[in-house]
Amino acid sequence: MTSLIEFLQAGSAPDFESERGVSCTGELPSPSDPDLVERARAAKEALGKKVMILGHHYQRDEVIQFADITGDSFKLAQAAAQNRDAELIVFCGVHFMAESADILTSNDQRVILPDLAAGCSMADMASLNQVREAWKVFEELDIASTTIPVTYMNSSAAIKSFTGENGGTVCTSSNAERAMRWAFEQGERVFFLPDQHLGRNTAVRLLGLSLDDCVLYNPWKPRGGLTDDQLRDAKVILWRGHCSVHGRFSMQNVLERRNEIPGVSILVHPECPHDVVMAADFVGSTETIISTVRNAPAGSKWAVGTELNLVKRLATENPDKEIHFLDKTICYCSTMNRIDLPHLVWALEALVSGDIVNVISVDEKTSRFSKLALERMLALPAQ
Ligand code: SF4
Repeated sequence: MTSLIEFLQAGSAPDFESERGVSCTGELPSPSDPDLVERARAAKEALGKKVMILGHHYQRDEVIQFADITGDSFKLAQAAAQNRDAELIVFCGVHFMAESADILTSNDQRVILPDLAAGCSMADMASLNQVREAWKVFEELDIASTTIPVTYMNSSAAIKSFTGENGGTVCTSSNAERAMRWAFEQGERVFFLPDQHLGRNTAVRLLGLSLDDCVLYNPWKPRGGLTDDQLRDAKVILWRGHCSVHGRFSMQNVLERRNEIPGVSILVHPECPHDVVMAADFVGSTETIISTVRNAPAGSKWAVGTELNLVKRLATENPDKEIHFLDKTICYCSTMNRIDLPHLVWALEALVSGDIVNVISVDEKTSRFSKLALERMLALPAQ
């Protein structure tokens, strides 16, 4: 497996020319076209090894069936970087994931997002201007030099770049604890972006800090809505962002499921609110959720707090277990779901005809500092 560091040492720096493709609006095949599956299969076959299709775990089944590799955002970005045969990476995920893949792939590979509107509401909650404004406040208070930014993988390339430029690291939901411990070795406080829940859950549940050690920086209020003393005294400054899917789960969901299903185990993602995470039996990243259910004994009962496409797939793949969705209402990632079979067919058929559409590219400077932050993550000591 080629690490990012090995990849960088190989000297294959991408050139990241700007090459945004045309919108697919108005050109999509009809969703009712009975030949969509066959069209996707034929286009993929025609492209052969030139194309690699990556499918995030939260994607629809109709798209996942064509994925060469499925995984979470970091696993998919690594997969893109390790495959040098595929000139075209069709990323069935959201915008920040395609950016990460572009940062990690070589200059003769193109990353394609079948629908350019497939963004991430959490990543969009931290704009570069807002984060720079916050940093200026830290500089005024003379705490910037002792504050280490840590950004979740689920952030824009601009925020990853800011983090790299200011001595910080990227983290995933699997290594957030290691990232935060590392950050405390470099400075006195952590500036955690953009998911307040992952930051709070990591600080309190895994590092043993108190809720009072954490403050919430609201970018829509002057100076984050915090006093100078609150900022100076904080151990963790949490950005006021959240995932619109995982942020919906509540204690009421937990209590109802425990009441309705005797013997149920509650399994949730650390992007869920703090009270839900603390009340759960198991907490883990998307990959951990999948392996926990797969390895569970037959007959065990689970209420799972993560994206609904994945929970439904877990139920289908584990018929010997009882798998429930933690919430009672539908809870898909609406932006991820924008990539459906018509968009995939549209993108693949355009590629077959030589039209490289919807390319996601990251500029050279942003890419350089993002890589620095990603390198720091890969170099985090093992726990
Ligand atoms: S599930 Fe949440 S964090 Fe993941 S892409 Fe959707 S909105 Fe973003």
